[in-house]
Amino acid sequence: MTANRPQPRPGVLDIAPYIPGKSTAPGVAKVFKLSSNETPLGASAATIAAYRAVGEHLEDYPDGSASELREAIGDVLGLDPARIVCGAGSDDLLNLLARAYLADGDEAIHTTHGFLVYPIATMGTGAKPVVAPEKNFTADVDAILACVSKKTKLVFLANPNNPTGTYIPFDEVKRLHAGLPPHVLLILDAAYAEYVQRNDYEAGIELVATSENVVMCRTFSKIYGLAALRLGWMYGPAHVVDAVNRIRGPFNVNAAAIAAGIAAIRDNAHVEKSRAHNTKWLAWLTEEIGRLGLTVTPSVGNFVLIHFPTTPGRTAKEADAFLTKRGLILRGVGGYKLPNALRMSVGSEEANRLVVQALAEFLGKKA
Ligand SMILES: *Cc1c(COP(=O)(O)O)cnc(C)c1O
Repeated sequence: MTANRPQPRPGVLDIAPYIPGKSTAPGVAKVFKLSSNETPLGASAATIAAYRAVGEHLEDYPDGSASELREAIGDVLGLDPARIVCGAGSDDLLNLLARAYLADGDEAIHTTHGFLVYPIATMGTGAKPVVAPEKNFTADVDAILACVSKKTKLVFLANPNNPTGTYIPFDEVKRLHAGLPPHVLLILDAAYAEYVQRNDYEAGIELVATSENVVMCRTFSKIYGLAALRLGWMYGPAHVVDAVNRIRGPFNVNAAAIAAGIAAIRDNAHVEKSRAHNTKWLAWLTEEIGRLGLTVTPSVGNFVLIHFPTTPGRTAKEADAFLTKRGLILRGVGGYKLPNALRMSVGSEEANRLVVQALAEFLGKKA
């Protein structure tokens, strides 16, 4: 067919665009946004000061290799800065990895309720997303391995996963890696690693350091509170770092993000405080919402997945509308094949208590 206008490459128009969490509730004065897993504690004071200082020199290009930031990350986490690449959010890095390793006809595996950026990044290259079934809303290593074919180039694993909040222990990640052919790149997306309080969890640093086909992606959007600035990084083998550096934008990370990131990664007290807040309220929300008779998938992140009945009057959709009217904005996750659930980010004490009260009211119970 000769098109009478420019046509995107095959696959692009099959992509369902990513729909971010709602941020407004029409007609409600005070809104609590619990739909995007943002931290209720915000960025640290030192981080905000570093960000503001950049405003004095907006005429200067940023350091295209983000050297100082890579050195700060390497210093704090004990990593070789030469094996770190920074990006405009980890979304940038996930897309760069897809572009570097996928072509028409290739396959990239992700799990049933995996992060939606994976199929979007995959389809943008003309490759095909292959969906591995989960068990109990959790990635299943055997199911992922069963999806591997000659065409497989990438495996995306969010650990912990969004929107389910579940994780697989490091032994399972190692078993997944051991079962993959050496030409398949395993991408460990550890966006919520800083929140996890489990002895059998690791983000993947050791596996990256000891293999040629594993990459770990991290973000400053969650516990560091820098989602607005778009900043993430990856740690990978030298040959993967080289490939990504060849195709990334020469100034893909802006100067404000670099300055804020350096301050944020060094501000351990703020991270500790944010983690302590999350640990306390994650347990509280799981307990209190469970007590109302709703099922909450056990989460190790900064959010909970709440399952609703399909009984008319009690559905996730109706709960969403009920909460939104009260300024409590949760995330509908129908796009994640979870039409009967809502995802709630752990918020401030005030927001958390208001959601539990409102859910009790919605269900006709006492909180
Ligand atoms: C929030 C999130 C990210 C971070 O994305 P950024 O582009 O860095 O803001 C990455 N992966 C998952 C699974 C997430 O939930």
